[in-house]
Amino acid sequence: MNANAIDPAAPIDGQIPLGATMTIAGVSTTSEATTLVLDPATAAPFTAVPDCTVQQLEAAVEAADEAFGLWRDSSEEERRAAMATIAEIVEANAGELAQLITREQGKPLAKGRSEVNSALVWIRAYAEMTLEPQVVRDSAEAHAEIRRVPLGVVAAITAWNYPVLLALWKIAPAIRAGNTVVVKPSPLTPVATLRLGELLVDALPAGVLNVISGGDEIGRRLVEHPLVRKVSFTGSVPTGRAIMQSAGAGLKRLTLELGGNDAAIVMPDADPEAIAEDLFWAAFSNCGQVCAGLKRLFVPESLAADVGDALAAVVASTVVGPGNDPSSEIGPIQNQAQLERVRALLADAEARGGDPLFVGDAPEGPGYFHPVTLVRGAAEGAALVDEEQFGPVLPILTYGSVEEAVERANATEYALGGSVWGADPEAAAAVAERLEAGSVWVGQHPGMGPDLPFGGLKQSGIGVEGSELGLAAFTDVKVVNVRRG
Ligand code: NAD
Repeated sequence: MNANAIDPAAPIDGQIPLGATMTIAGVSTTSEATTLVLDPATAAPFTAVPDCTVQQLEAAVEAADEAFGLWRDSSEEERRAAMATIAEIVEANAGELAQLITREQGKPLAKGRSEVNSALVWIRAYAEMTLEPQVVRDSAEAHAEIRRVPLGVVAAITAWNYPVLLALWKIAPAIRAGNTVVVKPSPLTPVATLRLGELLVDALPAGVLNVISGGDEIGRRLVEHPLVRKVSFTGSVPTGRAIMQSAGAGLKRLTLELGGNDAAIVMPDADPEAIAEDLFWAAFSNCGQVCAGLKRLFVPESLAADVGDALAAVVASTVVGPGNDPSSEIGPIQNQAQLERVRALLADAEARGGDPLFVGDAPEGPGYFHPVTLVRGAAEGAALVDEEQFGPVLPILTYGSVEEAVERANATEYALGGSVWGADPEAAAAVAERLEAGSVWVGQHPGMGPDLPFGGLKQSGIGVEGSELGLAAFTDVKVVNVRRG
């Protein structure tokens, strides 16, 4: 049974249908053991997925390795055509993928659709990129060029906040560059990614794209598999560290897109009313579960009350509810553990003098709903400020001078994104440049596109995704140096 068989409205009465199958060596594959997938809007299981066995993992990696023998020699035209076919299939099935994203991740259906649409933009951009050989010597004596060669089998391991987008950010450049892939989505949101594997089965030679479902242990085994040459990972900092260690023995190439604790600095000349809506979505898009979301808001003392009021007005007018309700603008938190973490961070902040300035409305459980909450009076030392909350609770921190705000914004090991908001874009940009982050923005947060490399400094990651730099990260450098005459 495939994902088409899921009726989002159907009650679950003990008979949990299999949501989607794994794709291994071009074959739809189930397994005896299955894992339930919960709907965060109801906290009830709505489907199940196969639990990949060690033998199936072995088969997936071997299939990818065998397929690499052919795919590495595919022409630019073949790879471009494959990318075009992938984009066509994803587009044709965007409605179904969006529904699955909403069901397993929780975000409103329109946002699920935007996630798929964004993925399409990246796929099509990668299709157009090339990594041309670079001739560095060309004379009567010598011809030398730098080439970019594919690596082999890529392990793509993803988090639960943007399942389809994160998977395609890895699949598209990996395949475009001539590699083959084994994808392992988060066990909390595996369904849409498995379905993607099913949908793309005829778009590529068997084994070029394999999708498996399993937990952290299968992820670890995948990273450690001797045939895997590169790991492209999106997830938390602790898992990033564990993966770096696991990958060390095989000297594997790594791209690690990890967590963030992004600061936004509101300048003293900012107009609170004018920026409130954009600040709100910077912090609360996807229920605050965005790696490069706004997580610490610095406002000058003189504007603290006005910014608080303007943000509270947006919170009051925003509907939190189930993703399949068209009036919902923000869904639930994706899982129970994350809901409990957000509650604990809020309780800790309150115990340390933080004061909920405004608390929005949210449905009661059993779904993992949490009201959008603005907190004032919390400071460094509270985990809500020092750590990544990854949920709908935003600390508003007041500062005396811009100098002080920059210093406090940079006083963290996270360094994914940061933004500055003010009436004078040049002055704001000068402050933004002093933020320690892989990307800094003015008057927006985040601001991304396939032409821009995205990645973290410090402990927010290693390497980038997006742009020719992100594509090049799926290759090694090879020098061909010919002596003439
Ligand atoms: P996580 O690190 O718990 O899990 C991510 C994935 O890693 C899952 O598929 C999991 O099964 C797998 N995994 C766990 N242990 C492993 C191991 N030892 N070896 C191999 N794989 C293993 O992260 P999460 O809770 O799913 O996601 C939330 C985090 O992801 C947040 O910190 C968020 O900021 C981050 N994130 C970062 C970006 C980015 O681009 N920088 C994007 C989205 C999310």
